[in-house]
Amino acid sequence: MELKGTAASAGIGIGSVVVVEEPNLDYESHTVEDTAAETERLKAAIESYIDYTNEQAATMRETVGEKEAEILTGHVTMINDPYMQGEMVKLIEGGMCAEDALVQICDMFATMFEATGDELTMQRATDVRDVKTGVLAELLNKRPVDLGTLPLGSVVVTHDLTPSMTAGIRQGAVVGFITEVGGLTSHSAILARAMEIPAVLSIAGVCSRLADSDQVIVDGTAGTVAVSPTEEELAAARDAQAAFLAERAELVKFVGARTVSASGEQFELFANIGKPDDATQAMERDAEGVGLFRTEFLFMDSKSMPTEDEQFEAYKKAAIICKNKPLIIRTLDIGGDKEIEYLGLEREDNPFMGFRAIRYCLAREDVYRTQLRALLRASAFGEIRIMVPLVTCVDELTAVKALVHRYMQEFDHEGVAYNPDIQIGVMMETPAASLIADLLAEEADFFSIGTNDLTGYTMCCDRGNDKVRYLYSTYNPAVLRSIRHVIEAGNSAGIMVGMCGEAAADPMLIPLWIAFGLCEYSVSATSVLSTRKHISLWTKEEACALAEKVMKLKTAAEVYDVLHESAR
Ligand code: PEP
Ligand code: MG
Repeated sequence: MELKGTAASAGIGIGSVVVVEEPNLDYESHTVEDTAAETERLKAAIESYIDYTNEQAATMRETVGEKEAEILTGHVTMINDPYMQGEMVKLIEGGMCAEDALVQICDMFATMFEATGDELTMQRATDVRDVKTGVLAELLNKRPVDLGTLPLGSVVVTHDLTPSMTAGIRQGAVVGFITEVGGLTSHSAILARAMEIPAVLSIAGVCSRLADSDQVIVDGTAGTVAVSPTEEELAAARDAQAAFLAERAELVKFVGARTVSASGEQFELFANIGKPDDATQAMERDAEGVGLFRTEFLFMDSKSMPTEDEQFEAYKKAAIICKNKPLIIRTLDIGGDKEIEYLGLEREDNPFMGFRAIRYCLAREDVYRTQLRALLRASAFGEIRIMVPLVTCVDELTAVKALVHRYMQEFDHEGVAYNPDIQIGVMMETPAASLIADLLAEEADFFSIGTNDLTGYTMCCDRGNDKVRYLYSTYNPAVLRSIRHVIEAGNSAGIMVGMCGEAAADPMLIPLWIAFGLCEYSVSATSVLSTRKHISLWTKEEACALAEKVMKLKTAAEVYDVLHESAR
């Protein structure tokens, strides 16, 4: 049997299930006469919760890290809030028992946090519920489960993983986590990743679907759990585990390192994101910035167009997470395969070549104005740069620049802060843009090559069409020449040239990008360290020698073969 969930912490764990149930915290509601004594009982429970939590935070600081310990000290700060405690005491003074007072006030705060719809604030609702459970456990004298006593090779299966549960985990004891709830940015996911324990989250009803001692393979990279695996499956999992661990051990030395070639040229290594919260993972994976924020997800996840304020909050949040590192935000790239009903795009015969991306935005100034104003406002909070998708002519770029300047003037009148020097760049992903790269470079602050689309448009082939998929390859000489041309044009004009398509992380192509003079690589968060490693394996001279050979070849197959032979 195979169960599917959210892949929340990479790696493979093989072990036996321990279903961990939260202690039963049911209690009898009652009224109290001696309200002073009941207030004391609540205060004593809070005190002992604080002592216990601080102890766990200290253990966690040593075993996992400062950032993770802060989740627990955050709980202490929360319950220490005089307003929160005051509200509980008021209820007790009205005759309510301590348990009811605690539950009512914590639930009130949790509901309030949840209602904001903002993901970070909503996380505080989980925190407040953790605090509630913790203090309630003290009032009832039932401490939460401590995983510190589990035997080696345990796979913890639980409803949700709380920081207090994980504080005492011994190295090697827990080899996997499976939970019923929690997403990629939940505390469970953050903790599992920090402890480097494979985790698959959000499998509905898993606590009753698995039983103690069941043998499982937790694949935290694929998001699957194999239950009672066969000998063959186990052997394959062990091989995959060994390969994963060897790769991870090797990549550790690239954490915190500069991105440099073997001959010392330095590059910028950014990550691609789809939502503001993805920036957290990008930073955790040591990206030096964000090279592509695909904003269409904000629009796709909403039933109506996100307002200027909603977009502003999203861009600002990403900017704050990036802490003044560059954050390149691509303006709305809808159309083609990305349909958004409320934006009123009509069906077209050939949507990829149709009314989409910048073409749509320039025709729908109401939609674009909202986004550009939100971006400008957010630019006061970080190093935001604007990137325009699917450009095919200079006028499109000059039109965007004119709009941005108009909105800056609006803000000057309104007294709203923004970065007046915000950079505006072009996503180089059409053959037309490549051919006029020198002209665009005079107007653009930077280029970023979108190899996913540039490959399709250059080869004139639709990725979704099986019959022509064989043509869809960045190894084609036409695509490689186009990329080289864009990089050279950008470099001669003195602007930064990056790449944010999938090809930026292709280890076989990296020496070509070094040879062509690419400055910035933007890759998925999980590819940051491996890209840094592959860049470090080539000197500029070796890369140029290889490029010289490759650029004389006539077919994609020959290019592939030569790059494959030379791969490191
Ligand atoms: C690209 O086209 O290379 C790119 C990065 O953008 P998307 O995949 O979103 O079109
Ligand atoms: Mg594209």
